[in-house]
Amino acid sequence: MGERGGYRRSVRAAAAALGFAALANAGPATAGAAPGGRRAFTHGDVERVTLAAFAAAHGLAVEDRAEAGLWLGRRNPTLRLMPGGRRASIRGVQVWLQHPLERVGDDWVLARVDADATLSPLLRPHRYLAGRTPGAGAPSPVFEGVPYTGARPALVVVLDPGHGGADGGASGPDGLLEKDLALDLARRTRTRLERAGLRVHLTREDDRFVDLADRPALAARLRADVFVSIHLNASDDPSAAGVETYVLSKPGFPSTNHPTGRPSPRWGADPGNAHDAANAILGFLLQRRMLGEGRARDRGLRHARFLVLRQAPCPAALVECGFLTNAGDARRLADEGARARMADAIALGILDYANEVRRARLVNW
Ligand SMILES: [Zn+2]
Repeated sequence: MGERGGYRRSVRAAAAALGFAALANAGPATAGAAPGGRRAFTHGDVERVTLAAFAAAHGLAVEDRAEAGLWLGRRNPTLRLMPGGRRASIRGVQVWLQHPLERVGDDWVLARVDADATLSPLLRPHRYLAGRTPGAGAPSPVFEGVPYTGARPALVVVLDPGHGGADGGASGPDGLLEKDLALDLARRTRTRLERAGLRVHLTREDDRFVDLADRPALAARLRADVFVSIHLNASDDPSAAGVETYVLSKPGFPSTNHPTGRPSPRWGADPGNAHDAANAILGFLLQRRMLGEGRARDRGLRHARFLVLRQAPCPAALVECGFLTNAGDARRLADEGARARMADAIALGILDYANEVRRARLVNW
């Protein structure tokens, strides 16, 4: 950083002085007044930013569509938010916020952690990924899905098929077991990523039990750039279906599936929180591809404190590729062709992430 960081700060200061509030507020955790008033403030123990300030900082107009929510965009809606709720949608993919969009006085306000560590990274990934991975300065080996043939170090990916051995995970009809499907998906994903020039390791190569803590530990030993854990879902409700992707909950905020959803200081920071912005970008790109390839129901990008995510030494996500307890999902997952398409989607999500890393390094001189 050094001089360049200083130069950027001074550009922002100059922009602020000239009244270019959007430019002045660009980027994470930048202090400064929004055009119509406050940018960041605390209300009910939660740090907030006004939606107006967030929109201005990203060059987006806010349109109130009543029942359909608040739409932020230029010409087309990029981001949709539901007043009073935690559900958002970015470019058509569902994203769960850590805290509801709430009314404070005359303003709609977001939790600052949602604005800075989820929404902003998803809208401007290149600002958050430069130098994110080990071996900084070396471009990622792939560009637009085409293998990069130059002598560059390849991105290291650790795929983690869930469960194994005595731990079968979820089960479905006809003896379908989560541990077997997860391993099959991981192997197929590896084949596709290796073809694109990435280096891929699995946390287990066969049907054996691997301690949860040993899975992120392998990623640390290999100095991995990306960690993706692969699972299948189960529910007491047989109608529950579709795909969801988890990234680590932000410090102080509960997991998406927590009953009250209230923030609390008892949820401290974990090592994986060092990558909050990159986690969100990786998780979003995986979820988007899994929806596109399988036409699956979108259960969204969610937050949870799974041990493998808490201890991940690099950007990490956990994908739930469908419900073994749902007849339709189970039938699809039992089909080899459908599993091949799901593995393609996971691989493409990881390649999308690799491309964003490369783009970030080109944009951020
Ligand atoms: Zn599982």
